[in-house]
Amino acid sequence: MRIDLHTHSFRSDGTESPQDLLASAARAGLDVVGLTDHDTISGWEDAAAAVAHTGVALVRGMEFTSRYGEFSVHVLGYLFDPAAPEIERHIAQMAKSRRERAQKIVERLAQDFPITWGDVLAVADPAAPIGRPHIADALIAKKIVADRQAAFQNMLSASSPYYVRQYAPQTSDVISWINQAGGRAVIAHPLANRGSRLPEVAVADLAATGLFGVEVNHRDNPIECRAELSSILAEHGLAEFGSSDYHGTGKPNQLGENTTAVEVFTQLVSGTHLEVIYP
Ligand code: AMP
Ligand code: ZN
Ligand code: FE
Ligand code: FE
Repeated sequence: MRIDLHTHSFRSDGTESPQDLLASAARAGLDVVGLTDHDTISGWEDAAAAVAHTGVALVRGMEFTSRYGEFSVHVLGYLFDPAAPEIERHIAQMAKSRRERAQKIVERLAQDFPITWGDVLAVADPAAPIGRPHIADALIAKKIVADRQAAFQNMLSASSPYYVRQYAPQTSDVISWINQAGGRAVIAHPLANRGSRLPEVAVADLAATGLFGVEVNHRDNPIECRAELSSILAEHGLAEFGSSDYHGTGKPNQLGENTTAVEVFTQLVSGTHLEVIYP
Protein backbone atom coordinates (compact mmCIF):
# COMPACT_ATOMS: atom_id res chain seq x y z
CA MET A 1 0.00 0.00 0.00
CA ARG A 2 1.36 3.40 -1.04
CA ILE A 3 -0.23 6.16 1.04
CA ASP A 4 0.30 9.93 0.59
CA LEU A 5 -1.92 11.99 2.90
CA HIS A 6 -0.92 15.59 2.14
CA THR A 7 -1.70 17.13 -1.28
CA HIS A 8 -3.24 20.30 -2.75
CA SER A 9 -5.53 20.95 -5.72
CA PHE A 10 -6.37 24.28 -7.36
CA ARG A 11 -9.20 24.59 -4.85
CA SER A 12 -6.43 26.14 -2.76
CA ASP A 13 -2.93 26.75 -4.15
CA GLY A 14 -2.20 23.55 -6.09
CA THR A 15 -2.39 23.63 -9.88
CA GLU A 16 -4.56 20.59 -10.73
CA SER A 17 -8.28 20.00 -10.38
CA PRO A 18 -9.23 17.49 -7.65
CA GLN A 19 -10.14 14.95 -10.37
CA ASP A 20 -6.79 15.40 -12.13
CA LEU A 21 -5.02 15.09 -8.78
CA LEU A 22 -6.50 11.62 -8.29
CA ALA A 23 -5.55 10.67 -11.86
CA SER A 24 -1.99 11.85 -11.14
CA ALA A 25 -2.02 9.82 -7.92
CA ALA A 26 -2.98 6.70 -9.89
CA ARG A 27 -0.11 7.33 -12.33
CA ALA A 28 2.27 7.78 -9.38
CA GLY A 29 1.26 4.32 -8.15
CA LEU A 30 -0.56 5.51 -5.03
CA ASP A 31 -3.33 3.42 -3.42
CA VAL A 32 -4.51 6.14 -1.03
CA VAL A 33 -4.35 9.93 -1.34
CA GLY A 34 -5.31 12.61 1.19
CA LEU A 35 -6.65 15.85 -0.29
CA THR A 36 -5.68 18.60 2.18
CA ASP A 37 -6.29 21.99 0.60
CA HIS A 38 -5.55 25.05 2.74
CA ASP A 39 -8.58 26.08 4.84
CA THR A 40 -11.15 24.68 2.39
CA ILE A 41 -13.05 21.47 1.73
CA SER A 42 -14.39 22.65 -1.64
CA GLY A 43 -12.42 19.99 -3.52
CA TRP A 44 -13.83 16.98 -1.63
CA GLU A 45 -16.83 16.34 -3.87
CA ASP A 46 -14.93 16.40 -7.16
CA ALA A 47 -12.14 14.26 -5.71
CA ALA A 48 -14.69 11.73 -4.40
CA ALA A 49 -16.25 11.52 -7.86
CA ALA A 50 -12.87 10.44 -9.30
CA VAL A 51 -12.27 7.56 -6.87
CA ALA A 52 -14.12 4.89 -8.86
CA HIS A 53 -12.44 5.44 -12.23
CA THR A 54 -8.93 6.18 -10.92
CA GLY A 55 -8.95 3.32 -8.39
CA VAL A 56 -7.34 5.58 -5.76
CA ALA A 57 -8.89 5.68 -2.27
CA LEU A 58 -9.58 9.17 -0.90
CA VAL A 59 -9.02 10.54 2.60
CA ARG A 60 -10.89 13.83 2.96
CA GLY A 61 -8.75 16.34 4.84
CA MET A 62 -7.86 20.00 5.16
CA GLU A 63 -4.68 21.90 6.10
CA PHE A 64 -5.62 24.38 8.84
CA THR A 65 -3.58 27.56 9.17
CA SER A 66 -2.70 28.15 12.85
CA ARG A 67 -0.13 29.72 15.13
CA TYR A 68 1.63 28.48 18.25
CA GLY A 69 2.71 31.73 19.88
CA GLU A 70 4.81 33.37 17.16
CA PHE A 71 5.29 30.14 15.20
CA SER A 72 3.25 29.49 12.08
CA VAL A 73 1.90 25.94 12.32
CA HIS A 74 -0.01 24.00 9.66
CA VAL A 75 -2.37 21.35 11.09
CA LEU A 76 -3.69 18.57 8.85
CA GLY A 77 -7.23 17.63 9.88
CA TYR A 78 -8.59 14.32 8.60
CA LEU A 79 -12.06 12.78 8.32
CA PHE A 80 -13.81 15.38 10.52
CA ASP A 81 -17.45 16.50 10.23
CA PRO A 82 -17.30 19.56 7.93
CA ALA A 83 -20.63 20.80 9.32
CA ALA A 84 -19.29 21.10 12.89
CA PRO A 85 -19.79 24.78 13.91
CA GLU A 86 -16.13 25.43 14.82
CA ILE A 87 -14.97 24.02 11.48
CA GLU A 88 -17.46 26.11 9.49
CA ARG A 89 -16.44 29.20 11.44
CA HIS A 90 -12.73 28.57 10.81
CA ILE A 91 -13.28 28.14 7.06
CA ALA A 92 -15.34 31.33 6.79
CA GLN A 93 -12.92 33.33 8.93
CA MET A 94 -9.87 32.19 6.99
CA ALA A 95 -11.49 32.94 3.61
CA LYS A 96 -12.21 36.50 4.77
CA SER A 97 -8.88 37.17 6.49
CA ARG A 98 -6.85 35.61 3.66
CA ARG A 99 -8.59 37.86 1.16
CA GLU A 100 -8.04 41.02 3.25
CA ARG A 101 -4.40 40.16 3.83
CA ALA A 102 -3.73 39.35 0.17
CA GLN A 103 -5.38 42.63 -0.87
CA LYS A 104 -3.01 44.51 1.47
CA ILE A 105 0.01 42.75 -0.03
CA VAL A 106 -1.20 43.60 -3.55
CA GLU A 107 -1.74 47.26 -2.55
CA ARG A 108 1.88 47.41 -1.40
CA LEU A 109 3.18 45.63 -4.50
CA ALA A 110 1.11 47.90 -6.76
CA GLN A 111 3.20 50.89 -5.66
CA ASP A 112 6.22 49.37 -7.43
CA PHE A 113 4.85 46.83 -9.93
CA PRO A 114 2.00 46.77 -12.47
CA ILE A 115 -0.25 44.34 -10.59
CA THR A 116 -3.90 44.65 -9.53
CA TRP A 117 -6.26 42.69 -7.29
CA GLY A 118 -8.09 41.65 -10.46
CA ASP A 119 -4.89 40.00 -11.73
CA VAL A 120 -4.86 37.84 -8.58
CA LEU A 121 -8.53 36.88 -8.83
CA ALA A 122 -7.94 35.95 -12.49
CA VAL A 123 -5.46 33.19 -11.55
CA ALA A 124 -7.37 31.76 -8.55
CA ASP A 125 -10.30 29.36 -8.44
CA PRO A 126 -13.38 31.39 -7.38
CA ALA A 127 -13.73 29.26 -4.22
CA ALA A 128 -10.03 29.29 -3.28
CA PRO A 129 -8.84 30.89 -0.03
CA ILE A 130 -6.29 33.34 -1.45
CA GLY A 131 -2.65 32.69 -0.58
CA ARG A 132 0.70 34.10 -1.57
CA PRO A 133 1.03 31.45 -4.33
CA HIS A 134 -1.90 33.13 -6.14
CA ILE A 135 -0.14 36.50 -5.92
CA ALA A 136 2.97 34.75 -7.27
CA ASP A 137 0.92 33.38 -10.19
CA ALA A 138 -0.39 36.88 -10.95
CA LEU A 139 3.22 38.20 -10.93
CA ILE A 140 4.15 35.38 -13.32
CA ALA A 141 1.21 36.18 -15.62
CA LYS A 142 2.41 39.81 -15.70
CA LYS A 143 5.97 38.60 -16.47
CA ILE A 144 7.26 40.30 -13.31
CA VAL A 145 8.78 37.04 -12.00
CA ALA A 146 9.65 33.74 -13.68
CA ASP A 147 8.08 31.31 -11.22
CA ARG A 148 6.61 30.90 -7.70
CA GLN A 149 10.03 30.11 -6.27
CA ALA A 150 11.42 33.45 -7.47
CA ALA A 151 8.42 35.34 -6.09
CA PHE A 152 8.81 33.68 -2.66
CA GLN A 153 12.53 34.45 -2.62
CA ASN A 154 11.88 38.11 -3.34
CA MET A 155 8.73 40.20 -2.91
CA LEU A 156 6.63 37.51 -1.17
CA SER A 157 9.19 36.49 1.46
CA ALA A 158 8.39 37.20 5.13
CA SER A 159 11.26 39.72 5.25
CA SER A 160 10.05 41.67 2.23
CA PRO A 161 8.61 45.20 2.71
CA TYR A 162 5.49 44.04 0.84
CA TYR A 163 4.80 41.22 3.32
CA VAL A 164 1.72 41.29 5.56
CA ARG A 165 1.12 38.69 8.26
CA GLN A 166 -1.75 36.23 7.99
CA TYR A 167 -4.29 35.95 10.83
CA ALA A 168 -4.35 32.44 12.33
CA PRO A 169 -6.09 30.82 15.33
CA GLN A 170 -4.15 29.04 18.09
CA THR A 171 -2.88 25.56 17.21
CA SER A 172 -4.36 24.07 20.39
CA ASP A 173 -7.81 25.44 19.45
CA VAL A 174 -7.56 23.99 15.94
CA ILE A 175 -6.63 20.57 17.32
CA SER A 176 -9.62 20.71 19.71
CA TRP A 177 -12.01 21.70 16.90
CA ILE A 178 -10.82 18.79 14.73
CA ASN A 179 -11.22 16.31 17.59
CA GLN A 180 -14.65 17.66 18.55
CA ALA A 181 -15.68 17.16 14.91
CA GLY A 182 -14.65 13.51 15.07
CA GLY A 183 -11.44 13.92 13.09
CA ARG A 184 -7.70 13.44 13.63
CA ALA A 185 -5.06 16.18 13.83
CA VAL A 186 -1.52 15.90 12.46
CA ILE A 187 1.13 18.65 12.49
CA ALA A 188 2.54 19.29 9.02
CA HIS A 189 6.27 19.88 8.33
CA PRO A 190 7.24 21.07 11.87
CA LEU A 191 10.89 21.67 10.94
CA ALA A 192 10.20 23.68 7.79
CA ASN A 193 12.28 26.82 7.31
CA ARG A 194 14.40 27.24 10.38
CA GLY A 195 12.91 30.61 11.28
CA SER A 196 9.52 29.12 12.10
CA ARG A 197 10.72 25.81 13.53
CA LEU A 198 8.31 24.41 16.08
CA PRO A 199 10.04 23.89 19.44
CA GLU A 200 10.06 20.49 21.13
CA VAL A 201 8.06 21.76 24.08
CA ALA A 202 5.25 22.55 21.65
CA VAL A 203 5.03 18.92 20.57
CA ALA A 204 4.70 17.78 24.19
CA ASP A 205 2.12 20.50 24.89
CA LEU A 206 0.09 19.72 21.76
CA ALA A 207 0.21 15.96 22.44
CA ALA A 208 -1.69 16.75 25.64
CA THR A 209 -4.36 18.66 23.68
CA GLY A 210 -5.23 15.67 21.48
CA LEU A 211 -2.70 15.68 18.66
CA PHE A 212 -2.63 12.34 16.77
CA GLY A 213 0.64 12.59 14.87
CA VAL A 214 3.34 14.64 13.15
CA GLU A 215 4.89 14.65 9.68
CA VAL A 216 8.49 13.48 9.91
CA ASN A 217 9.29 12.49 6.34
CA HIS A 218 8.55 15.72 4.47
CA ARG A 219 11.08 17.46 2.21
CA ASP A 220 10.98 20.65 4.32
CA ASN A 221 12.11 18.79 7.48
CA PRO A 222 15.95 18.71 7.36
CA ILE A 223 17.05 15.03 7.14
CA GLU A 224 19.57 15.41 9.98
CA CYS A 225 16.80 16.52 12.39
CA ARG A 226 14.32 13.72 11.71
CA ALA A 227 15.73 11.00 14.02
CA GLU A 228 15.49 13.33 17.02
CA LEU A 229 11.94 14.31 16.05
CA SER A 230 11.00 10.61 15.79
CA SER A 231 12.26 9.92 19.29
CA ILE A 232 10.29 12.89 20.69
CA LEU A 233 7.15 11.54 19.00
CA ALA A 234 7.72 8.05 20.38
CA GLU A 235 8.03 9.53 23.89
CA HIS A 236 4.61 11.12 23.57
CA GLY A 237 2.87 8.26 21.77
CA LEU A 238 2.43 10.29 18.58
CA ALA A 239 2.20 8.65 15.15
CA GLU A 240 4.79 9.39 12.47
CA PHE A 241 3.68 10.48 8.98
CA GLY A 242 5.43 10.89 5.64
CA SER A 243 3.88 12.93 2.83
CA SER A 244 4.66 14.81 -0.37
CA ASP A 245 2.71 18.08 0.10
CA TYR A 246 2.18 17.96 -3.68
CA HIS A 247 1.08 21.28 -5.28
CA GLY A 248 1.00 20.20 -8.96
CA THR A 249 3.47 22.35 -10.90
CA GLY A 250 3.42 24.99 -8.13
CA LYS A 251 6.21 23.23 -6.21
CA PRO A 252 8.83 20.58 -7.05
CA ASN A 253 7.26 18.08 -4.57
CA GLN A 254 6.23 14.86 -6.35
CA LEU A 255 3.30 12.62 -5.37
CA GLY A 256 4.46 9.66 -3.29
CA GLU A 257 7.97 11.08 -2.66
CA ASN A 258 7.23 10.34 1.02
CA THR A 259 4.56 7.96 2.29
CA THR A 260 2.88 6.88 5.52
CA ALA A 261 3.01 3.31 6.91
CA VAL A 262 -0.15 1.24 6.53
CA GLU A 263 -0.26 0.60 10.31
CA VAL A 264 -0.40 4.35 11.00
CA PHE A 265 -3.04 4.81 8.29
CA THR A 266 -5.21 2.04 9.80
CA GLN A 267 -5.08 3.71 13.23
CA LEU A 268 -5.73 7.15 11.73
CA VAL A 269 -8.96 6.15 9.99
CA SER A 270 -10.56 4.01 12.68
CA GLY A 271 -13.43 5.61 14.59
CA THR A 272 -13.48 8.91 12.68
CA HIS A 273 -16.63 10.83 11.74
CA LEU A 274 -16.04 10.40 7.99
CA GLU A 275 -14.84 7.21 6.34
CA VAL A 276 -12.21 6.69 3.67
CA ILE A 277 -13.82 6.52 0.22
CA TYR A 278 -12.63 3.32 -1.45
CA PRO A 279 -12.94 2.46 -5.18
P1 AMP B 1 0.30 31.82 2.62
O1 AMP B 1 -0.55 30.78 3.31
O2 AMP B 1 -0.53 32.74 1.81
O3 AMP B 1 1.22 32.55 3.56
O4 AMP B 1 1.22 31.04 1.59
C1 AMP B 1 1.91 29.90 2.00
C2 AMP B 1 1.83 28.87 0.89
O5 AMP B 1 2.85 29.15 -0.05
C3 AMP B 1 2.04 27.44 1.34
O6 AMP B 1 1.01 26.65 0.78
C4 AMP B 1 3.29 26.99 0.69
O7 AMP B 1 3.15 25.68 0.18
C5 AMP B 1 3.49 27.95 -0.44
N1 AMP B 1 4.92 28.22 -0.64
C6 AMP B 1 5.80 28.60 0.31
N2 AMP B 1 7.03 28.76 -0.25
C7 AMP B 1 6.90 28.47 -1.56
C8 AMP B 1 7.81 28.43 -2.67
N3 AMP B 1 9.10 28.76 -2.52
N4 AMP B 1 7.34 28.04 -3.87
C9 AMP B 1 6.04 27.73 -4.03
N5 AMP B 1 5.13 27.75 -3.03
C10 AMP B 1 5.55 28.11 -1.81
ZN1 ZN C 1 0.09 25.29 -0.21
FE1 FE D 1 1.81 23.56 4.83
FE1 FE E 1 0.48 21.69 2.35
